[in-house]
Amino acid sequence: MAAVNLLNLDREALTAWFETLGEKPFRARQVMRWIHRRGAADFGAMSDVARSLREKLAQQATIAAAPVLRSGTSSDGTRKWLLGVGAGDAVETVYIPEDDRATLCISTQAGCAVNCRFCATGMQGFSRNLSTAEIIGQLWMAEHELRPAAAGAAGEAATRAISNVVFMGMGEPLQNYDAVLPALRLMLDDDAYGLSRRRVTVSTSGMVPMMDKLARDCPVALAVSLHAPTDALRSELVPLNKKYPLGELMGACRRYLQHSPRDFITFEYVLIAGVNDADRQARELLQRVADVSCKINLIPFNPFPGSKLRRPDAQRVRDFAAILTEGGVVTTVRRTRGDDIDAACGQLAGRVLDRTTARLGARHALAVPS
Ligand code: SAH
Ligand code: SF4
Repeated sequence: MAAVNLLNLDREALTAWFETLGEKPFRARQVMRWIHRRGAADFGAMSDVARSLREKLAQQATIAAAPVLRSGTSSDGTRKWLLGVGAGDAVETVYIPEDDRATLCISTQAGCAVNCRFCATGMQGFSRNLSTAEIIGQLWMAEHELRPAAAGAAGEAATRAISNVVFMGMGEPLQNYDAVLPALRLMLDDDAYGLSRRRVTVSTSGMVPMMDKLARDCPVALAVSLHAPTDALRSELVPLNKKYPLGELMGACRRYLQHSPRDFITFEYVLIAGVNDADRQARELLQRVADVSCKINLIPFNPFPGSKLRRPDAQRVRDFAAILTEGGVVTTVRRTRGDDIDAACGQLAGRVLDRTTARLGARHALAVPS
């Protein structure tokens, strides 16, 4: 019998699995706290769990996150991990410390099928969905790796290292809903990470039906990648727009707000020189979002190898932002973080192999050039 990876199970699933072992729900809770609150990877360490249960677990279960292939720290403190997810694929996780918070940006798919024109992940195509274990494993790994330093800095024993999670790494989270949902539940669970719904943000390129589902199942803060004020341009930049055009997307945003833990949607807008950064487009954008309570987050385009697009200059970004602000929408410009380690938005590619090589099955060639 294959071992069960307990990182795949949220509270409900873990409790159900414990029941099949003839164990009570409070045992599942105990083990859950060991894994997620204390970072245990080994059943032997779970000192208040009966020895007989520990032995049973050691035989039938594992606690396995994706292995770290490489990690690096930027001069601004941003940290990036490259995680192996098999078959020559890798994904990236980024930790972004700020004065008042520390955010972990996590990935949900190896590659992405949405294929946005300005995104390094989209350019590499789609490999596969990550499992719940591979998704929550990013938080598990990062939180417990960083916590000792966070605790040291605060002069206490066990503070929390990560205060916010954003689903803004590689992949479209709402195209991997079944694996994302249990991961979200663990993030919010007091016996796991205990994050508030307002501090967990799912970012989507506009999977309308799944936005409605998320609102019902597990409402957390929502960011929607807009990038264009009109259907014609948006369909060019984000091909999913042909399936779910702006009218439908705005409708889904309004419905989401009825359940959202925050009273606004964050619209992300990657500013690309000469493509979507004109004054006229800022005014059209104001009209487009007029009946959705929102904030706009402008992300000056981050170049990556092979992209032919350009970032607007700083003055253009300021002027575009000023039109939105004067139009009454709270607008922020995302500061570039970690660009010296290619950890900035849209730069996450995470491939360890050329796709052709991967198809040839050269799995052993996981050596990453540094
Ligand atoms: N797939 C989801 C979440 C991951 S992308 C989504 O698209 O929303 C997270 C954010 O990074 C999105 O807003 C995306 O548009 C932005 N992004 C992608 N490529 C970028 C680039 N080259 N420069 C700046 N931002 C980029
Ligand atoms: Fe996928 Fe988001 Fe990149 Fe578009 S921007 S290709 S949806 S990861």
